[in-house]
Amino acid sequence: MTLRYLTIPVTAFQQNCSLVWCDETMDAAVIDPGGDLPRLKEAAQKRGLTLKAIWLTHAHIDHAGGTGQLAREQHLPIIGPHPGDQFWIDGLAKQSQMFGFPPAESFTPTRWLADGDTVSIGRQTLNVRHCPGHTPGHVVFHSPAIERAFVGDVLFAGSIGRTDLPGGDQDTLIASIQQRLWPMGDATVFIPGHGPESSFGVERRSNPYVGER
Ligand SMILES: [Zn+2]
Ligand SMILES: [Zn+2]
Repeated sequence: MTLRYLTIPVTAFQQNCSLVWCDETMDAAVIDPGGDLPRLKEAAQKRGLTLKAIWLTHAHIDHAGGTGQLAREQHLPIIGPHPGDQFWIDGLAKQSQMFGFPPAESFTPTRWLADGDTVSIGRQTLNVRHCPGHTPGHVVFHSPAIERAFVGDVLFAGSIGRTDLPGGDQDTLIASIQQRLWPMGDATVFIPGHGPESSFGVERRSNPYVGER
């Protein structure tokens, strides 16, 4: 019995929304439902999954834009992000306008997350690490059992998250990556918020922003 996942790029920003599920109970969580909700619901239905929760890495519109509507329609709890992103949630309507998104429904997280928390789906549990820098309230979800981490916009294959938006800070972001992601182990594969998967080992060696080459 294990944790499985499927990543579906959504919105004009090709944001990686992931369905994660326990293959024993078939209960699923949606990580970062930025939009394209019909596609997400269809993907869950096709695999016989029951949506149980929304988990948010951070509150940028491409990651959180579909949260309010999906939570309301499917009666799902909203887990995360860290309270540092409250101002981004408050600003969702403005973000919709700024980035040309359909108006996002506002929402209030059912449960905020903090560093060291855990989240569960079915019989599977993931660890939560607070990784500020891209946004102040950014969190990542780590499954040691399958050596996977869902890292949102903290780290990408060959790059790191942008830090020029309000609340961003590059030194903080680099510290988050080095102190909270690297200890998860070189073999750990991460699912970034945009683009292809990579491993911490590969990035640690060759990433131009945080590599040790
Ligand atoms: Zn972002
Ligand atoms: Zn993003």
